[in-house]
Parts: sequence; structure tokens; C-alpha cells
Amino acid sequence: MAVGRSTKLVLFDIDGTLLSIAERELNVFGLALERVFGTAGSIEAYSFAGKTDHQIAFELLSGAGRAASQIELGLPDLKDCYLEMLDEMLDTSGMAVLPGVIELLDQLAKDSSVVLGLQTGNWEAAAEKKLARFGLARYFVVGAFGDGQLDRNTLPPLARDRAEQRVGGRISSSHTVIVGDTALDIACARTWHMASVGVATGSTSQLELRSAGADLVVPTLADLDAGRLLGLTSRKPS
Ligand SMILES: [Mg+2]
Repeated sequence: MAVGRSTKLVLFDIDGTLLSIAERELNVFGLALERVFGTAGSIEAYSFAGKTDHQIAFELLSGAGRAASQIELGLPDLKDCYLEMLDEMLDTSGMAVLPGVIELLDQLAKDSSVVLGLQTGNWEAAAEKKLARFGLARYFVVGAFGDGQLDRNTLPPLARDRAEQRVGGRISSSHTVIVGDTALDIACARTWHMASVGVATGSTSQLELRSAGADLVVPTLADLDAGRLLGLTSRKPS
């Protein structure tokens, strides 16, 4: 793998970006909250888009009057309960790899200057289950996950640090691209001066992704090739 200024890091979100969003997953998360905490709070009116699993649990439960210490205490059980139900959900929900994902990952994986990573609000164990189930795990060498993270904005530097350790060299913000389906993915990239691609295969429209400041917006990842994606890395000053 090439090291130094030429190394490029591409960080993918999972839900709505690599895999279709399954309505049933939200139900599974709610069911796990009810089993462990006795309530899922105002889950019907809550938007999961772009948030970390940790944040979702905290926001829903504190909204239902649970104290932070009580939430912390129940989190390991919540995670176990959710992961147990996730297997069954993945087999039956109709969740699928989104159009163009495999083709794009194959192209990027062939480029020795590219490090492929994840920046996802999923707990790491949930991300692993999802990617393994759909044969995508092999593409990604680093990642930053939702465990312990209340804000998605903390994820990109974590992923980059891990990528730098992996390649043994610095990777600049201007050589990093975030690919995601929500305005929060785009906000992450902007916070860290990274390039961003918004893909409208989740719950956010192309217009909203453009308004959020994405450098490039595509209807699906089938509308993007590796050359166009990596071209974004040279547009921003280092
Ligand atoms: Mg997403």
C-alpha cells in the first residue's frame, strides 16, 4: 500500500449508503429498549438518520425520564438484546446491498493508494454482523463506530487515526472522502474539512444533501465511479 501524501481514505456510512434501510430494524431497536428499560420513549416520532446507536439510546431514554447513570448501566444488556434480534432481522427484513455498491467497492479496492474505511453510527458488533451478512466486510480495513459516541462528528478523526496507524503515514483531510446518505454525514465531512459525497438512497433527498453542502450528490452509488469519487480529494486545500 502506498504511504504518505498520495494515500487516499474513503469512509463509508452503512445504513442507507451501503445497505438499504429496513423499517424493521427500528422496530428491533425499540423492542430491545422496551425489554431492557421498559420503554422506547417517543420512538414513533424520532429520526434515527445519521445518529449513533449510543446517541439514539441516550436521546430516547433520557426523553422518557431515565437518568444518564441508569442508561449507562443498562447499555451492555441493550446491546446484547439488540444484537440477538439483529440476526433474525437481517435474515427476514429484505435489507439488501444498494445498487452500485459492489462495483464501486471493487474499483476502489483495486487502487493501491486507497484505504477503505467505515464511519457509522452502528455499534461495531452490529456493523460487523450487517457487513458479514452481505459479504461486504472484506473491503474495509478500518472503521469508527457508534460505541460510546454521542455525536457522529467525533467519528471521522477516529477512523483517520486508525487508517494512519494502518498505513504508517499521515493522511490529510483533503485526501479523505466521506460517503453517506444523511445531512449529518455531510456535516461530519465539513467539520473536518474532508470531501463528501451524498447518496440519496436513504431517507434524505438529493436537494437536502446538496443544501447540507455535499461536494457531490448522486441518486445511487451506481451513478458514481471510483475516478469521480477520488477526483474530489484533490479539490480541497491540504
Ligand atoms: Mg446512513
